[in-house]
Amino acid sequence: METSSERERGLKHSPETQNALGVVFNIQRFSLHDGPGIRTVVFLKGCPMSCKWCCNPESIQLSPQIVFNAEKCLRDGRCLEVCTTGARNREGYRPEKCTFCGMCVEACPTGALELLGKKMSISEIIQEVEKDHLFYETSGGGVTLSGGELLAQYTFSVALLEELKRCSIHTAIETSGYGPWSHLKQIVDACDLVLYDLKHMNSESHMRYTGVPNELILENALKITDRIAGTKKDMIIRVPLIGGVNTDRENIDAIACFALKAGVMEVHLLPYHRLGESKYRKLGMDYPHEAFILDDGLVNTIKDILETHGLIIRIGG
Ligand code: SF4
Ligand code: SF4
Repeated sequence: METSSERERGLKHSPETQNALGVVFNIQRFSLHDGPGIRTVVFLKGCPMSCKWCCNPESIQLSPQIVFNAEKCLRDGRCLEVCTTGARNREGYRPEKCTFCGMCVEACPTGALELLGKKMSISEIIQEVEKDHLFYETSGGGVTLSGGELLAQYTFSVALLEELKRCSIHTAIETSGYGPWSHLKQIVDACDLVLYDLKHMNSESHMRYTGVPNELILENALKITDRIAGTKKDMIIRVPLIGGVNTDRENIDAIACFALKAGVMEVHLLPYHRLGESKYRKLGMDYPHEAFILDDGLVNTIKDILETHGLIIRIGG
């Protein structure tokens, strides 16, 4: 058995695994809403969907991004001096030449440049998440992989989950389920808990609000519950509640019926919030989300409806 110092340094496994790189846009410690206990959430970049209410718009593009705030720029050229690839020069910024090394971001004295996402090795992530191992043990927590959509980096996700397992860390995944079953199956096999998003039961509406239909998502959900039946793994359905989109009685009843059909008894409701608003401004994107705000009391009404179907409901993750 490896010692804790070996575990902290991530020295247990093959160099190939340790050196595999993923694109991570955030590692959030002490989360209480993304699975049981105290958790560290590793947010991976890349998502095939484009949900209109997305609170992590920086997660959609798979590669890292550099955003520039012209109002903060002194035009002192320090960022140009450190760029060795020619991506940043007097003519401007050429992303196709950028290696996202972050040197210009570090050189900038005002924070006018910001790097969204960076390549991290499994061993770097393990070192980061191991800092809270004691909290995982005492609270029944662990690590949750989120996104974006971790299926966008599925080989890296599988390798990371397996490494976390070898470090005796409980693992959860948050997924939209929108991806090939052959990929999702490997991720499910490598984790302990699946937090599965259901956004809309009507495929046309799903398409309108997320950019993709829902048939594959529903199919994959049933395949997961089949696969984990009789194991210690579990699945929880998570429903983002978006005003004017998926909060009508018909959709809520349909979600309840589907959960029961899949044999999932626990459903978490995630009320729409506006925490992502500033990120849209930073990325130069519109934030057309006024209409998504929920009426007071609606969340509890939906909770009551779902409970009449015999489901266990939690508000928040
Ligand atoms: S991240 Fe690196 S390569 Fe890209 S513009 Fe900045 S210094 Fe140049
Ligand atoms: S280092 Fe920062 S403040 Fe200076 S020119 Fe570059 S972006 Fe502007």
